[in-house]
Formats: sequence, structure tokens, C-alpha cells
Amino acid sequence: MKLSKRLDTVARAIPAGATAADIGSDHAYLPCYLCLENRISKAVAGEVAEGPYHSALSQVRKWNLTDRISVRKGDGLEVITPGEVDVVAIAGMGGKLIADILERGQSKLSGVSRLVIQPNVAGETVRLWFMTHGWRLRDETILEEDGKIYEVLVAERGDGHSPYRMAGEAGLRYGPFLMKEQNAAFRKKWRAEIAKWQRIEEQLAHAGETQEIMERKKRLRKKIDETEEILNG
Ligand code: SAM
Repeated sequence: MKLSKRLDTVARAIPAGATAADIGSDHAYLPCYLCLENRISKAVAGEVAEGPYHSALSQVRKWNLTDRISVRKGDGLEVITPGEVDVVAIAGMGGKLIADILERGQSKLSGVSRLVIQPNVAGETVRLWFMTHGWRLRDETILEEDGKIYEVLVAERGDGHSPYRMAGEAGLRYGPFLMKEQNAAFRKKWRAEIAKWQRIEEQLAHAGETQEIMERKKRLRKKIDETEEILNG
């Protein structure tokens, strides 16, 4: 079984020997892969939607992993009991939905020591959630696959504010580790964002001078200048 580069990055962040829950597991590739590689012995695959839940069930049966992976239907972290798993992975959803799942499922996180999160968009919302809920961002990866750029965030319990003492507030948007490293995927992502904001700025140039438009323009310019500054060191 071969994982995509994106899911492989998530898999690598799950410590060997952990008991993991994969929330929003869909096809259950992640827990199947980890068990087949004998990296972990037990996992929970959680899914809220009927189709993906059945897809997870059949994948787990196909690989004869029914005694090691428990496939459960339910919303977010409601599929696990406190203390049941030590790692929670949530991948392939928007950052807002992920932060909402974490927020609503806080009581289920009591035995969890590591969160491995791959937001498709709005990583900033997840970083902010970590920061304000006692989860310390430990590692970040940004990668490109099939023309799309993904971030993988790893957090452990601790001082949520600590990663931002050096990077400041900008760290929430760009990622304190990612902005330091500035690999090719990071630079591509933020160059594309700047280009998008500049297009909006051009459109707004012909949209009149109301208070609202002026404020929008100001916010856009601030984002463009800040991002240029980060990229230009
Ligand atoms: N995690 C897999 C991956 O990264 O390849 C699948 C990602 S798929 C795009 C997102 C999955 O999350 C869908 O199957 C969807 O049904 C599920 N999902 C969305 N909201 C959820 C929730 N509140 N609880 C559990 N699963 C959810």
C-alpha cells in the first residue's frame, strides 16, 4: 500500500507504537497503512458520512485489519472515549472545521499527547486553536503534490504561546517553523496569495471610494506588504 505524499507526511508524524484515531478517515488509508507497516498496533477510524464510513469499513476488511482498526460512524471526536488513543490525526479538511472538531471534542482529548493536523486551507485557525488551548506547535511541514500545497501541523501539550515568542503574530498566518525555513512550497504558496490579493486590489481600484472599500484596500495592502517583507527576508 502506497500513500500519497500528503498522507505519508501525516503518517510519519505518528509515533511508532501509538494508538491513533484518524478522524474523517474516508477510505481509512492512513490507519490501514500504519497497521500494515506495523508502525502501530491499533487504531480508530472515525467518519461522519455514510459513504466514506462504508468505504473505510471495506478497506479495513480488505486488508484483514478488523481486529486492529475499529471503524466508527460519528461526528468528530465523539467516536472515541477519553484515554482510548494517544494520537489524533485529522487530515484533508478545512482548518475551521478541524478547529471546530477539536473545540467540541475537548473532553475526549484527555489522554491524547499529540495532534497531527493537515488542514487544506486556513492553517492559521488551527494554529490559533493550538495557541489558545494549551497545545504547543512542535513541527510543521509544507509540501506540494499534484499542483496543490498542503501543510501538516504537529502539536503536543505545552505552552501554546511559546512558538510565537520569536515569530510574533505573523507566525500564526505563515507558520513559525515554515516562515523560518521558507522552502519552495512555502514561497510558491505565498507568491500565489500575493498575486491573488493584487488582482483583488486592481478590481477594487475601479470600485469607488466608500469607507468599506477603502478599509478593504488598506487590509489587502497590509497583507501584501507583510508577505513581501517575509519573503524578502
Ligand atoms: N482524512 C482523509 C484524507 O486526508 O485523505 C480523507 C479526507 S476527506 C477530504 C474528509 C473526510 O472528512 C470526509 O470523508 C468527510 O465525510 C469527513 N468529515 C467531515 N466532517 C467530519 C466530522 N465532523 N467528523 C468526522 N468526519 C468528518
